[in-house]
Amino acid sequence: MNDSSIVSTMMPVHLSLNHFLERAGLLFATNEVISRRPDKSYLHHTYADIYTRTRQLAQALLQLGLKKGDRVATLCWNHHVHLECYFGIPAAGGVMHTLNLRLSADEIAWIANDAKDRFLIVDDVLLPLLNQFKDQCHFEKIIVVPFTGQTHGGPELDYETLLSQTDTTNFQYVEHHEDDPVSMCYTSGTTGKPKGVVYSHRSTVLHTLVGCLGDFWSLKSTDVVFPVTPMFHANSWGIPYGAMMMGAKLVFPGPHLHPEDLLDCMQYAPPTLALGVPTIWMGLIQTYENALQTQPNRWHLPKGMRSLVGGAAVPQALIKAFDTHGIWIMQGWGMTETSPLCTVSYTKAEFADASDDEKYRRAAMAGVPVPLVDLRIRDDNGLNAAWDGQQVGEIQVSGPFITGSYHQVPVQADKFTDDGWLRTGDVASVDAAGFVRITDRTKDLIKSGGEWISSVDLENALMAHSTIAEAAVIAIPDIKWSERPLACLVLKPGATLDAQELGNHLQQMGFAKWQLPDRYELLDQIPRTSTGKFYKLRLREMFTH
Ligand code: ADP
Repeated sequence: MNDSSIVSTMMPVHLSLNHFLERAGLLFATNEVISRRPDKSYLHHTYADIYTRTRQLAQALLQLGLKKGDRVATLCWNHHVHLECYFGIPAAGGVMHTLNLRLSADEIAWIANDAKDRFLIVDDVLLPLLNQFKDQCHFEKIIVVPFTGQTHGGPELDYETLLSQTDTTNFQYVEHHEDDPVSMCYTSGTTGKPKGVVYSHRSTVLHTLVGCLGDFWSLKSTDVVFPVTPMFHANSWGIPYGAMMMGAKLVFPGPHLHPEDLLDCMQYAPPTLALGVPTIWMGLIQTYENALQTQPNRWHLPKGMRSLVGGAAVPQALIKAFDTHGIWIMQGWGMTETSPLCTVSYTKAEFADASDDEKYRRAAMAGVPVPLVDLRIRDDNGLNAAWDGQQVGEIQVSGPFITGSYHQVPVQADKFTDDGWLRTGDVASVDAAGFVRITDRTKDLIKSGGEWISSVDLENALMAHSTIAEAAVIAIPDIKWSERPLACLVLKPGATLDAQELGNHLQQMGFAKWQLPDRYELLDQIPRTSTGKFYKLRLREMFTH
């Protein structure tokens, strides 16, 4: 024996989501989880209820024959049962597969089959959707969550009956290694077929710990969290795990995501932290500000609320608009592949005393890499770009909660580098302070006469104009210049389009003449993707003739 040898004396305990559940049952018994039902009434549970029900779900799944690694799909809105699935399915050794209910029936069927989903848990209000694709899939058991009180009468099982008949006296968590899978989610497949990303206990626990840190969610047990981010996509950005770990009160909007409904919900249980994509908050602020003219006391925005907004570029105008009502927007950037939190724009110490303009400018960036994420920018020659705020290239990331492959897809060079980093397809620069500024997605960049134009920058500037509610800029083919920018606009109520004035405004904001959109198209609403972002592919189809 070599005297100088040494091994860690720490316990070889695997990181586990079950610990968060046990902790919530033990420490936060009286903290609340509120869900909005389809009839818009509110359902209250405590974490003690959720703890009991989640273990009942796990036990019930085991009794139904679930084996370790089996996939259990969910087709659900945001509510307490979905939270129970987030923990109950892994507790039984299963893998929760969140199906995106906004996709077409055929797409959902394809994804469920690719994942080989064995069981399905579905909201009763989504049964009409399920009926459109059920025959194409092979679910052995379908468990229906009864919200409306209507009986469904099929061979399906009833979630509440199943739980009430389950005795957890002898329940034991299924043993696992920290690298065992807990959940999976498919990318939206805007390029090619959707691909499955599979998360583990380890990746999820580490992502949760990082997310909860002070400069990011800064989650406390006194917080009231309003996740508008769908639980069926990208783990609802991980916040259900964080809330369980910290015992924060959760308020789930259920199927009601219209701005009026969200504002109503925010009156019922004023949040201290809300999460969602920019389009959600654009709709909400428009509705709120319109109502101020006619019914000034109908809604109040929760002053001091923190809001994490991401999934698409957050316009500076949106950040300013919320700030005037005492709500600060933090921007986050990430992907399904990255769990998803990768960068967050928060006030770093060196900018604490910066001017408001500088604070807004930084808030409109994607932000700084979070701990455990390594980030680099690779230029067209495969070289690292300097962090000088100028050089742009593809963002590549690596870390313990970044996927290193896709479910049953051979690792491809266009997705992963030779040294194993994820190629994000997002184009950005990073400045000396570590702030990432996303210029575009590779496929959304506009190449005009050999020069790149950033659609994100144009959108940001257009939405800063007083007449514009929403702007999405796309490339359309052009014989002379190869591509030119076209701006799709939604005007504010009562406003009219003045192309000359918009051109002047853009030039004042620093755009050169050749960068200005050639065409403006007015729409009632910019089409949205299944995750609520501007649907540029659809816009290109609409306007490319
Ligand atoms: P999809 O949008 O295809 O459904 P994801 O939900 O995984 O897939 O979205 C990831 C993509 O969203 C990123 O690659 C990036 O293009 C975009 N995105 C996310 N956050 C931001 C942000 N803060 N700014 C700009 N783009 C963002």
